Amino acid sequence: MTEQQNLAMIQLLTAYDRKQSTKRNYNIYGIGHYFGGVETVQKHCDNGAPLRLAILNVFQDRLCDHVLKGMGLDKMTIDEARWCDFQRLPHCYTCHDKRFDDDDRDCPNCNT
Ligand SMILES: [Zn+2]
Repeated sequence: MTEQQNLAMIQLLTAYDRKQSTKRNYNIYGIGHYFGGVETVQKHCDNGAPLRLAILNVFQDRLCDHVLKGMGLDKMTIDEARWCDFQRLPHCYTCHDKRFDDDDRDCPNCNT
């Protein structure tokens, strides 16, 4: 993901959050999660993942489609949306641990 794509994703998520803020049940922590998500997409891309696959691994449901569309990519297929039918990327590229949550800053498996 280029610097411009990173910025574009941050801008589209900021706009998305602003729109959400007018609705009931607005999650004030959403924006923090979205920005964390952009960092994780960047990490996957830096490790060689295609942008679309990286986005599929990080965002879910409608937000995932929103991000894909905003980045000029195809929306989720039915199989991708329903069955998560896409390649799972490792959360940690040092030990290739797939178990821990994206919100964890450090890998509990190898402590990197
Ligand atoms: Zn690790």
